[in-house]
Amino acid sequence: MSALNIKDHSIARLREELAAVGERPYRADQIAAWLYRRGVEDPEQMTDLGADLRARLAHEWQLAALAVERVDRSVDGTCKAALVAHDGARIESVLIPEDDRMTLCVSTQVGCAMACEFCATGFMGFSRNLRASEIVDQVCRMRALAPPDRPISNVVFMGMGEPLLNLDAVVEAISLLIDPKAFAIAPRRVTVSTVGIVPKIGELLARVPVNLAVSLHATTDAVRDRLVPLNRRYPLAALLGALRELPTVTARRPVFFEYTLIAGVNDSVEDADRLPGLLHGIPAKLNLIPMNPHPDSPLRPPDAEATDRFLRVLAAKGMTVTLRRSRGPDIQAACGQLALRPA
Ligand code: SAH
Repeated sequence: MSALNIKDHSIARLREELAAVGERPYRADQIAAWLYRRGVEDPEQMTDLGADLRARLAHEWQLAALAVERVDRSVDGTCKAALVAHDGARIESVLIPEDDRMTLCVSTQVGCAMACEFCATGFMGFSRNLRASEIVDQVCRMRALAPPDRPISNVVFMGMGEPLLNLDAVVEAISLLIDPKAFAIAPRRVTVSTVGIVPKIGELLARVPVNLAVSLHATTDAVRDRLVPLNRRYPLAALLGALRELPTVTARRPVFFEYTLIAGVNDSVEDADRLPGLLHGIPAKLNLIPMNPHPDSPLRPPDAEATDRFLRVLAAKGMTVTLRRSRGPDIQAACGQLALRPA
């Protein structure tokens, strides 16, 4: 693995890196245009660069961080790829076509240390953080798998891993995603999801103007302690209290709350009744996700009737709530199903 992977650097930092080796800083913009706007990765094709710099890119720097190992396509159009890093680490990314958008779900770590009871990634354990280049390269590799007339419009940091435990790499990757000279994705189309690393949430939003999603999953500490072990460190009052204080939240940018419905665990009418009060003071949008089952867990989603009841209680109380349709369950690409075992 080389420290000189171009995709580890925002354009501003690439300018500095190039200046440090005697190249003209504006070359960074040209390289970014080839890599991120035109999708050209072969230095020989970067015709406006000059032979010396092209040779340097080919021999001294790395341009790719991941290789596509395997692609699975769901009957619903969802596309999951297993991607391999230079050290052999494997991760997954998922492309989700919707009516008017093409959403890419990226991973931020190899495995995950959070050990949430219902999540397949949690059962893998944690191997290492991804580098910024390995997050960025998920976009480069995955967009090549989408139809040419369907560019990636949205990126969600909801794949393997906990983004806020790899914050520097996540921020560096996001700065390329939203840079008009790189991927040029509007910041409001980028969403970072966290299980609730309270001291890092404000830092994320201060550094990049993205959407925040929070994995809530329970209305009491007793249940959340069980489902999301991190709750023992940052209980509900600490998490929701911190969200209420955020400048972005008080400016009424909504927070997206994810609530995975699990039969007999967090799907009671009492839970639904408690939610609006719990989220009071936070401009909240709630996404209900019936749990996607996986082989490592005995937990199951509620039946349609219980799901509907939960939804109706919330709607009656005036909450903004949507039921998320599961995408790609036939290829184990849905929320909480991303897991790779060593080959
Ligand atoms: N670690 C971050 C990013 C992952 S986002 C976080 O937890 O927010 C993945 C989302 O899928 C999280 O909301 C997670 O709780 C949810 N999820 C995990 N396992 C699931 C399952 N089996 N069914 C439905 N959703 C699940």
